Amino acid sequence: MFKAILVNKDDQGYRAELAQVDEASLPEGDVRVKVLYSTLNYKDGLAITGKGPVVRSFPMVPGIDFAGEVLESASPEFKVSDMVLLNGWGVGEGHWGGLAQQARVKSEWLIPLPKGFTAKQALAIGTAGYTAMLCVMALQKHGLKPSDGEVLVTGAAGGVGSFAITLLSKLGFTVVASTGRMSEADYLKKLGANEVIDRAVLSVPGKPLAKERWAAVVDSVGSHTLANACAQTKSDGAIAACGLAQGMDFPSTVAPFILRGVTLYGINSVTVAKVKRIAAYEQLSKLVDLKTLEQISHEINLEDSIKYAAELMAGNVRGRLIVDVNK
Ligand code: NAP
Repeated sequence: MFKAILVNKDDQGYRAELAQVDEASLPEGDVRVKVLYSTLNYKDGLAITGKGPVVRSFPMVPGIDFAGEVLESASPEFKVSDMVLLNGWGVGEGHWGGLAQQARVKSEWLIPLPKGFTAKQALAIGTAGYTAMLCVMALQKHGLKPSDGEVLVTGAAGGVGSFAITLLSKLGFTVVASTGRMSEADYLKKLGANEVIDRAVLSVPGKPLAKERWAAVVDSVGSHTLANACAQTKSDGAIAACGLAQGMDFPSTVAPFILRGVTLYGINSVTVAKVKRIAAYEQLSKLVDLKTLEQISHEINLEDSIKYAAELMAGNVRGRLIVDVNK
Protein backbone atom coordinates (compact mmCIF):
# COMPACT_ATOMS: atom_id res chain seq x y z
CA MET A 1 0.00 0.00 0.00
CA PHE A 2 1.15 3.57 -0.58
CA LYS A 3 -0.20 7.09 -0.09
CA ALA A 4 -1.75 9.01 -2.96
CA ILE A 5 -4.06 11.94 -3.61
CA LEU A 6 -7.19 10.52 -5.20
CA VAL A 7 -9.65 12.67 -7.13
CA ASN A 8 -13.17 11.32 -7.39
CA LYS A 9 -16.35 12.50 -9.04
CA ASP A 10 -19.58 10.70 -8.18
CA ASP A 11 -22.92 11.18 -6.39
CA GLN A 12 -21.05 12.80 -3.50
CA GLY A 13 -19.59 15.42 -5.85
CA TYR A 14 -16.06 16.31 -6.98
CA ARG A 15 -13.42 15.83 -4.30
CA ALA A 16 -9.76 15.15 -3.64
CA GLU A 17 -8.50 13.24 -0.61
CA LEU A 18 -5.40 11.57 0.75
CA ALA A 19 -5.88 7.79 0.40
CA GLN A 20 -4.07 4.49 0.85
CA VAL A 21 -3.77 2.73 -2.50
CA ASP A 22 -2.91 -0.84 -3.34
CA GLU A 23 -0.04 -1.38 -5.80
CA ALA A 24 -2.32 -3.70 -7.76
CA SER A 25 -4.50 -0.68 -8.61
CA LEU A 26 -1.69 1.10 -10.48
CA PRO A 27 -2.45 1.60 -14.16
CA GLU A 28 -0.62 -0.28 -16.90
CA GLY A 29 2.90 0.65 -17.86
CA ASP A 30 6.32 -0.94 -18.25
CA VAL A 31 8.09 1.06 -15.53
CA ARG A 32 7.12 1.34 -11.86
CA VAL A 33 8.63 4.27 -10.00
CA LYS A 34 9.08 5.14 -6.33
CA VAL A 35 8.09 8.79 -6.52
CA LEU A 36 10.30 11.15 -4.52
CA TYR A 37 8.95 14.55 -5.53
CA SER A 38 5.98 15.91 -7.43
CA THR A 39 4.76 19.46 -7.76
CA LEU A 40 1.68 21.62 -8.15
CA ASN A 41 1.23 23.22 -11.55
CA TYR A 42 -1.80 25.23 -12.64
CA LYS A 43 -3.19 22.08 -14.28
CA ASP A 44 -2.83 20.14 -11.01
CA GLY A 45 -4.74 22.94 -9.30
CA LEU A 46 -7.54 22.48 -11.83
CA ALA A 47 -7.48 18.69 -11.36
CA ILE A 48 -7.59 18.81 -7.56
CA THR A 49 -10.19 21.56 -7.19
CA GLY A 50 -12.29 20.53 -10.22
CA LYS A 51 -12.19 24.15 -11.47
CA GLY A 52 -11.41 22.94 -14.97
CA PRO A 53 -12.24 19.67 -16.73
CA VAL A 54 -8.69 18.31 -16.99
CA VAL A 55 -9.32 14.91 -15.38
CA ARG A 56 -10.55 12.46 -17.99
CA SER A 57 -11.32 9.40 -15.82
CA PHE A 58 -12.03 8.74 -12.13
CA PRO A 59 -10.64 7.91 -9.66
CA MET A 60 -7.52 9.84 -10.73
CA VAL A 61 -4.18 10.46 -9.07
CA PRO A 62 -3.29 14.02 -10.14
CA GLY A 63 0.26 15.27 -10.64
CA ILE A 64 1.54 16.01 -14.15
CA ASP A 65 5.18 15.89 -13.01
CA PHE A 66 7.27 13.55 -10.90
CA ALA A 67 10.82 12.44 -10.29
CA GLY A 68 11.84 9.23 -8.61
CA GLU A 69 13.66 5.95 -8.64
CA VAL A 70 12.83 2.96 -10.84
CA LEU A 71 11.50 0.03 -8.77
CA GLU A 72 10.66 -2.31 -11.63
CA SER A 73 11.21 -2.07 -15.37
CA ALA A 74 10.30 -4.18 -18.38
CA SER A 75 11.94 -1.60 -20.64
CA PRO A 76 15.52 -1.99 -21.89
CA GLU A 77 15.86 1.80 -21.55
CA PHE A 78 15.60 1.87 -17.74
CA LYS A 79 16.83 -0.42 -14.97
CA VAL A 80 16.06 -0.70 -11.24
CA SER A 81 17.48 2.27 -9.25
CA ASP A 82 17.70 4.60 -12.27
CA MET A 83 16.57 8.12 -11.46
CA VAL A 84 13.86 9.32 -13.86
CA LEU A 85 11.74 12.37 -14.59
CA LEU A 86 8.29 12.72 -16.12
CA ASN A 87 6.58 15.91 -17.35
CA GLY A 88 3.21 15.79 -19.05
CA TRP A 89 2.02 13.12 -21.50
CA GLY A 90 -1.48 13.31 -20.00
CA VAL A 91 -0.24 11.84 -16.72
CA GLY A 92 -2.37 13.18 -13.86
CA GLU A 93 -5.18 13.78 -16.38
CA GLY A 94 -5.91 10.46 -18.10
CA HIS A 95 -3.29 8.22 -16.43
CA TRP A 96 -2.43 8.16 -12.70
CA GLY A 97 0.16 10.81 -11.91
CA GLY A 98 2.83 11.93 -9.50
CA LEU A 99 0.96 13.02 -6.38
CA ALA A 100 1.53 9.57 -4.93
CA GLN A 101 4.37 7.51 -3.51
CA GLN A 102 4.36 5.23 -6.55
CA ALA A 103 3.54 5.51 -10.24
CA ARG A 104 3.47 3.08 -13.15
CA VAL A 105 3.92 4.65 -16.58
CA LYS A 106 5.09 3.99 -20.12
CA SER A 107 8.87 4.12 -20.48
CA GLU A 108 8.50 6.35 -23.54
CA TRP A 109 7.19 9.11 -21.25
CA LEU A 110 10.25 9.05 -18.98
CA ILE A 111 13.61 10.75 -19.37
CA PRO A 112 16.66 10.16 -17.19
CA LEU A 113 16.86 12.70 -14.38
CA PRO A 114 18.64 15.61 -16.12
CA LYS A 115 22.32 16.00 -15.22
CA GLY A 116 23.01 18.85 -12.83
CA PHE A 117 19.72 18.55 -10.94
CA THR A 118 18.59 16.52 -7.94
CA ALA A 119 15.05 15.09 -8.02
CA LYS A 120 13.90 17.99 -5.84
CA GLN A 121 15.54 20.61 -8.06
CA ALA A 122 14.05 19.03 -11.20
CA LEU A 123 10.63 19.34 -9.59
CA ALA A 124 11.28 22.92 -8.54
CA ILE A 125 11.51 23.44 -12.31
CA GLY A 126 8.64 21.07 -13.21
CA THR A 127 6.36 21.55 -16.19
CA ALA A 128 6.19 25.30 -15.47
CA GLY A 129 9.96 25.83 -15.74
CA TYR A 130 10.39 23.44 -18.63
CA THR A 131 7.54 25.18 -20.50
CA ALA A 132 9.16 28.57 -19.87
CA MET A 133 12.31 27.10 -21.43
CA LEU A 134 10.31 25.88 -24.45
CA CYS A 135 8.88 29.41 -24.83
CA VAL A 136 12.37 30.93 -24.72
CA MET A 137 13.65 28.32 -27.20
CA ALA A 138 10.83 29.24 -29.62
CA LEU A 139 11.83 32.92 -29.37
CA GLN A 140 15.51 32.07 -29.85
CA LYS A 141 14.60 30.02 -32.93
CA HIS A 142 12.69 33.06 -34.17
CA GLY A 143 16.01 34.90 -34.04
CA LEU A 144 15.34 37.11 -31.02
CA LYS A 145 18.45 38.88 -29.69
CA PRO A 146 18.86 41.04 -26.55
CA SER A 147 19.53 44.09 -28.77
CA ASP A 148 16.02 43.73 -30.27
CA GLY A 149 14.45 45.35 -27.20
CA GLU A 150 12.24 44.61 -24.21
CA VAL A 151 10.62 41.22 -23.65
CA LEU A 152 7.29 41.12 -21.81
CA VAL A 153 6.52 38.26 -19.40
CA THR A 154 2.90 37.95 -18.26
CA GLY A 155 1.66 35.98 -15.24
CA ALA A 156 5.06 37.00 -13.90
CA ALA A 157 4.80 35.83 -10.29
CA GLY A 158 3.44 32.40 -11.30
CA GLY A 159 5.50 29.31 -12.11
CA VAL A 160 5.96 29.80 -15.87
CA GLY A 161 6.38 33.55 -15.43
CA SER A 162 9.03 33.31 -12.70
CA PHE A 163 11.11 30.94 -14.83
CA ALA A 164 10.65 32.95 -18.02
CA ILE A 165 12.03 36.01 -16.21
CA THR A 166 15.07 34.24 -14.82
CA LEU A 167 15.89 32.48 -18.12
CA LEU A 168 15.50 35.61 -20.27
CA SER A 169 17.47 37.71 -17.83
CA LYS A 170 20.31 35.16 -17.75
CA LEU A 171 20.38 35.31 -21.56
CA GLY A 172 20.86 39.08 -21.40
CA PHE A 173 17.36 40.26 -22.33
CA THR A 174 15.67 43.32 -20.84
CA VAL A 175 12.61 41.86 -19.13
CA VAL A 176 9.36 43.62 -18.24
CA ALA A 177 7.23 41.60 -15.80
CA SER A 178 3.45 42.00 -15.76
CA THR A 179 1.80 41.00 -12.50
CA GLY A 180 -1.40 41.47 -10.53
CA ARG A 181 0.74 41.41 -7.38
CA MET A 182 2.79 44.61 -7.35
CA SER A 183 3.73 43.58 -3.79
CA GLU A 184 5.95 40.95 -5.46
CA ALA A 185 7.94 43.57 -7.41
CA ASP A 186 11.09 42.99 -5.33
CA TYR A 187 10.89 39.22 -5.89
CA LEU A 188 10.44 39.75 -9.65
CA LYS A 189 13.38 42.17 -9.79
CA LYS A 190 15.56 39.69 -7.89
CA LEU A 191 14.69 37.11 -10.56
CA GLY A 192 15.92 39.53 -13.21
CA ALA A 193 13.00 41.76 -14.20
CA ASN A 194 14.17 45.25 -15.21
CA GLU A 195 10.69 46.73 -14.78
CA VAL A 196 7.45 45.53 -13.20
CA ILE A 197 4.07 46.65 -14.56
CA ASP A 198 0.54 46.16 -13.24
CA ARG A 199 -1.30 43.51 -15.24
CA ALA A 200 -4.45 45.66 -15.11
CA VAL A 201 -3.11 47.70 -18.05
CA LEU A 202 -2.98 44.57 -20.22
CA SER A 203 -5.95 42.54 -19.02
CA VAL A 204 -8.71 44.85 -20.29
CA PRO A 205 -10.01 45.15 -23.89
CA GLY A 206 -7.58 47.17 -26.03
CA LYS A 207 -7.06 48.35 -29.61
CA PRO A 208 -6.26 45.94 -32.48
CA LEU A 209 -2.93 47.77 -32.90
CA ALA A 210 -1.22 49.78 -30.18
CA LYS A 211 2.11 51.58 -29.81
CA GLU A 212 4.91 49.11 -30.58
CA ARG A 213 6.86 48.19 -27.46
CA TRP A 214 7.79 44.50 -27.12
CA ALA A 215 10.45 42.73 -29.15
CA ALA A 216 8.88 39.50 -27.85
CA VAL A 217 6.46 38.17 -25.26
CA VAL A 218 6.14 35.06 -23.09
CA ASP A 219 2.45 34.80 -22.22
CA SER A 220 0.93 32.34 -19.75
CA VAL A 221 -2.31 34.29 -19.35
CA GLY A 222 -4.26 34.35 -22.67
CA SER A 223 -7.46 36.37 -23.19
CA HIS A 224 -7.21 40.21 -23.42
CA THR A 225 -3.66 40.10 -22.06
CA LEU A 226 -2.48 38.04 -25.03
CA ALA A 227 -4.50 40.18 -27.44
CA ASN A 228 -2.91 43.39 -26.06
CA ALA A 229 0.54 41.79 -26.05
CA CYS A 230 0.14 41.00 -29.76
CA ALA A 231 -1.14 44.54 -30.46
CA GLN A 232 1.93 46.04 -28.73
CA THR A 233 4.56 43.75 -30.28
CA LYS A 234 7.04 45.42 -32.61
CA SER A 235 7.21 44.60 -36.33
CA ASP A 236 8.54 41.08 -36.95
CA GLY A 237 8.51 40.36 -33.22
CA ALA A 238 7.14 37.16 -31.69
CA ILE A 239 4.94 35.92 -28.90
CA ALA A 240 5.21 32.50 -27.25
CA ALA A 241 1.76 31.70 -25.84
CA CYS A 242 1.42 28.81 -23.43
CA GLY A 243 -1.33 29.52 -20.93
CA LEU A 244 -4.83 30.63 -20.08
CA ALA A 245 -4.69 31.90 -16.49
CA GLN A 246 -6.88 34.88 -17.46
CA GLY A 247 -8.98 32.96 -19.99
CA MET A 248 -9.00 30.65 -22.96
CA ASP A 249 -10.43 33.33 -25.24
CA PHE A 250 -8.26 35.31 -27.63
CA PRO A 251 -10.14 38.51 -28.47
CA SER A 252 -7.65 39.78 -31.05
CA THR A 253 -7.68 40.70 -34.74
CA VAL A 254 -5.35 39.66 -37.54
CA ALA A 255 -3.90 43.20 -37.61
CA PRO A 256 -0.63 42.51 -35.70
CA PHE A 257 0.05 39.49 -37.90
CA ILE A 258 -0.71 40.96 -41.33
CA LEU A 259 0.32 44.60 -40.74
CA ARG A 260 3.39 44.08 -38.54
CA GLY A 261 4.48 40.56 -39.43
CA VAL A 262 4.16 39.51 -35.80
CA THR A 263 4.44 35.75 -35.19
CA LEU A 264 2.42 33.90 -32.56
CA TYR A 265 4.00 30.63 -31.41
CA GLY A 266 1.84 28.12 -29.55
CA ILE A 267 3.72 26.14 -26.93
CA ASN A 268 2.51 22.70 -25.88
CA SER A 269 4.82 20.99 -23.40
CA VAL A 270 2.73 17.84 -22.97
CA THR A 271 3.74 15.77 -26.01
CA VAL A 272 7.17 17.17 -26.87
CA ALA A 273 9.56 14.52 -28.22
CA LYS A 274 12.20 13.15 -25.83
CA VAL A 275 15.10 14.67 -27.71
CA LYS A 276 13.65 18.19 -27.41
CA ARG A 277 12.84 17.65 -23.71
CA ILE A 278 16.42 16.62 -23.05
CA ALA A 279 17.67 19.65 -25.01
CA ALA A 280 15.40 21.93 -22.94
CA TYR A 281 16.80 20.52 -19.68
CA GLU A 282 20.36 20.88 -20.99
CA GLN A 283 19.68 24.58 -21.50
CA LEU A 284 17.97 24.81 -18.10
CA SER A 285 21.00 23.26 -16.43
CA LYS A 286 23.19 25.98 -17.97
CA LEU A 287 20.83 28.88 -17.23
CA VAL A 288 19.19 28.12 -13.89
CA ASP A 289 21.06 29.24 -10.86
CA LEU A 290 20.44 26.75 -8.03
CA LYS A 291 20.06 29.59 -5.51
CA THR A 292 17.35 31.10 -7.71
CA LEU A 293 15.57 27.73 -7.67
CA GLU A 294 15.35 28.02 -3.89
CA GLN A 295 13.94 31.55 -4.21
CA ILE A 296 11.30 30.41 -6.71
CA SER A 297 10.18 27.24 -4.93
CA HIS A 298 8.58 26.26 -1.66
CA GLU A 299 8.23 22.68 -0.37
CA ILE A 300 4.96 21.18 0.90
CA ASN A 301 3.83 17.66 1.82
CA LEU A 302 1.44 15.36 -0.01
CA GLU A 303 -1.61 16.00 2.16
CA ASP A 304 -1.18 19.79 1.98
CA SER A 305 -1.24 19.69 -1.81
CA ILE A 306 -5.07 19.69 -1.59
CA LYS A 307 -5.13 22.94 0.40
CA TYR A 308 -2.43 24.54 -1.76
CA ALA A 309 -4.26 23.63 -4.97
CA ALA A 310 -7.05 26.01 -3.91
CA GLU A 311 -4.46 28.71 -3.08
CA LEU A 312 -2.88 28.25 -6.51
CA MET A 313 -6.25 28.66 -8.20
CA ALA A 314 -6.86 31.81 -6.16
CA GLY A 315 -3.58 33.26 -7.50
CA ASN A 316 -2.01 33.32 -4.02
CA VAL A 317 1.03 31.14 -4.74
CA ARG A 318 4.33 32.74 -5.68
CA GLY A 319 6.64 30.75 -7.96
CA ARG A 320 6.56 26.99 -7.59
CA LEU A 321 5.36 24.42 -5.08
CA ILE A 322 7.40 21.20 -4.74
CA VAL A 323 5.60 18.27 -3.14
CA ASP A 324 7.65 15.83 -1.03
CA VAL A 325 5.30 12.85 -1.41
CA ASN A 326 7.01 10.92 1.39
CA LYS A 327 6.45 13.55 4.08
P1 NAP B 1 0.51 29.68 -11.81
O1 NAP B 1 1.76 29.41 -11.06
O2 NAP B 1 -0.80 29.58 -11.13
O3 NAP B 1 0.69 31.15 -12.45
C1 NAP B 1 -0.34 31.77 -13.16
C2 NAP B 1 -0.18 33.27 -12.99
O4 NAP B 1 -1.06 33.92 -13.90
C3 NAP B 1 -0.57 33.78 -11.62
O5 NAP B 1 0.47 33.66 -10.68
C4 NAP B 1 -0.89 35.22 -11.93
O6 NAP B 1 0.34 35.93 -11.99
C5 NAP B 1 -1.47 35.16 -13.35
N1 NAP B 1 -2.94 35.21 -13.33
C6 NAP B 1 -3.77 34.43 -12.61
N2 NAP B 1 -5.05 34.77 -12.82
C7 NAP B 1 -5.02 35.80 -13.70
C8 NAP B 1 -6.02 36.61 -14.31
N3 NAP B 1 -7.31 36.43 -14.07
N4 NAP B 1 -5.63 37.58 -15.16
C9 NAP B 1 -4.33 37.79 -15.44
N5 NAP B 1 -3.33 37.06 -14.89
C10 NAP B 1 -3.67 36.08 -14.04
O7 NAP B 1 0.42 28.74 -13.09
P2 NAP B 1 1.59 28.17 -14.03
O8 NAP B 1 1.88 26.77 -13.63
O9 NAP B 1 2.65 29.18 -14.15
O10 NAP B 1 0.80 28.10 -15.42
C11 NAP B 1 0.40 29.30 -16.07
C12 NAP B 1 -0.49 28.99 -17.26
O11 NAP B 1 0.29 28.29 -18.23
C13 NAP B 1 -1.67 28.09 -16.95
O12 NAP B 1 -2.77 28.48 -17.75
C14 NAP B 1 -1.20 26.71 -17.36
O13 NAP B 1 -2.25 25.85 -17.69
C15 NAP B 1 -0.36 27.07 -18.57
N6 NAP B 1 0.67 26.07 -18.88
C16 NAP B 1 0.66 25.56 -20.12
C17 NAP B 1 1.61 24.67 -20.52
C18 NAP B 1 1.64 24.19 -21.93
O14 NAP B 1 2.24 23.15 -22.20
N7 NAP B 1 1.02 24.90 -22.83
C19 NAP B 1 2.58 24.26 -19.59
C20 NAP B 1 2.59 24.83 -18.30
C21 NAP B 1 1.62 25.75 -17.96
P3 NAP B 1 0.48 37.37 -11.29
O15 NAP B 1 0.01 37.20 -9.90
O16 NAP B 1 1.94 37.69 -11.41
O17 NAP B 1 -0.38 38.32 -12.08
